[in-house]
Amino acid sequence: MLKKEDREHQKFMRMAISLSKKNVENYKGGPFGAVIVKEGRVIAKSANKVTTTNDPTAHAEISTIRQACKKLNTFDLTGCVIYTSCEPCPMCLGAIYWSHLDIIYYANTKSDAAEIGFDDQFIYDEIDMPMEDRKLPVVQILRNEAQEAFKLWDVSPMKISY
Ligand SMILES: [Zn+2]
Repeated sequence: MLKKEDREHQKFMRMAISLSKKNVENYKGGPFGAVIVKEGRVIAKSANKVTTTNDPTAHAEISTIRQACKKLNTFDLTGCVIYTSCEPCPMCLGAIYWSHLDIIYYANTKSDAAEIGFDDQFIYDEIDMPMEDRKLPVVQILRNEAQEAFKLWDVSPMKISY
């Protein structure tokens, strides 16, 4: 017999999984779904919307984070939990850290995703590599001019941490 808490987690994960399945069945996009929950209540849910919205950042997790922040009118999702049908890619993992979600529950692993053609290992490999050895060229220019905005921010009364 599962504990009540475990059943709750499974319930929300099944929602995420259901979103991922329906997305494929309805030809809406990739097999990924996510749900954000606060105090046992669903705040936001979304499937992957990359191909239907022409937005390469519209992964299920990012789309769900955007919805949740809009709904709660905040940029800080402390106190919320994300259920994602697949282990987050580096972009979504970063977004989850930035939004301060409390816990990540995931179902499929990143190697499960790699097996069906969604391989994000190359991004992890790139991050680990020195900039000059990366496949994507990264070129620094005009640091001095860009610093002006940083200096303004540093003394701005609007300065808040996030
Ligand atoms: Zn992602």
